[in-house]
Amino acid sequence: MGKIISIVSGKGGTGKTTTTANLAVALGKLGKSVVAVDGDLTMANLSLVMGLDDASVTIHDVLIGTAEIKDAIYAIPDFENVHVIPAAIDWEHVMKADPRGLPSVIKPLKEQFDYVLIDCPAGLQVDAMSAMLSGEEVLLVTNPEISCMTDTMKVGIVLKRAGLAMLGFVLNRYGRSSNDIPPDAAEEVMEVPLLAVIPEDPAVREATLEGIPVVAYKPTSDGAKAFMALAQEIERISGFKARVMY
Ligand code: ADP
Ligand code: MG
Repeated sequence: MGKIISIVSGKGGTGKTTTTANLAVALGKLGKSVVAVDGDLTMANLSLVMGLDDASVTIHDVLIGTAEIKDAIYAIPDFENVHVIPAAIDWEHVMKADPRGLPSVIKPLKEQFDYVLIDCPAGLQVDAMSAMLSGEEVLLVTNPEISCMTDTMKVGIVLKRAGLAMLGFVLNRYGRSSNDIPPDAAEEVMEVPLLAVIPEDPAVREATLEGIPVVAYKPTSDGAKAFMALAQEIERISGFKARVMY
């Protein structure tokens, strides 16, 4: 049985989609079968970041009831073992799809893949909650700023109360400012394990624009190495925590 990980944060722009895409490709490189799900039903961009631009069936169609989930799963030929479930971007689909249906659509995917990674919307609104509660484990993504960290902590606390297992957090975009909160202080504040420090790296942004996650676009970059290390850490601890908790 596979693992379902919700990738979450308090604010937008922290790097959830970037982390989801890179973790998917990195775990694929480690030989695991992965599906990355775009759970951000109103601001979808995961499939673009992963280079899939011609998807006709999306998770919205599945939620609306006009398609089956198997028809919304796209293999990405360039990345071994990696699949994506895209979301629609047109307003009509967004209006019709009820996010509360996400858990029943996403949870069964663990029977088919080693990892189900959910790219969640930011915050605690119903669309974000529905996406986040579709997972069993949580990976928090934060930037090294206090307001970003406190908002992400709030989300973590709510999800822990809801019974999800906390894997830990990613400190993303570290080194952008001289006022950045250092990793050891961030770990003390967050009170959950620090799994990886991802540096601010222009290669990450370049890779986003190219539609190729940086672990594939520029594997020797510092950003790519940090995402690979995150994948190894996830591989080491995921599943274990969920088993201990239940
Ligand atoms: P979210 O999904 O949390 O809203 P994204 O993953 O879309 O955030 O990231 C927002 C922007 O920040 C993107 O343009 C992305 O390329 C950029 N970005 C994310 N992480 C890094 C990093 N470590 N270094 C440089 N740019 C980054
Ligand atoms: Mg996003």
